[in-house]
Amino acid sequence: MPRYEYRCRSCGDTFELSRPMAESSDPASCPAGHEDTVKLLSTVAVGGSAASGPAPSAGGGGGGGGCCGGGCCG
Ligand SMILES: [Zn+2]
Repeated sequence: MPRYEYRCRSCGDTFELSRPMAESSDPASCPAGHEDTVKLLSTVAVGGSAASGPAPSAGGGGGGGGCCGGGCCG
């Protein structure tokens, strides 16, 4: 069962819970009883595929051709 980490916004404490993945987004109460908690990004390795980053943006647009130097622009 995966472990999820939560942080309580009331007392600032962080705690872990082992719960089914289907309940990962359910509200979790901190050990002190507070209910204002947020789920932190877990580092649970789910898959083995390395995410390929987005392709570097090819420089588009611009491309001055030196036109304005010859008086063709007006
Ligand atoms: Zn708390």
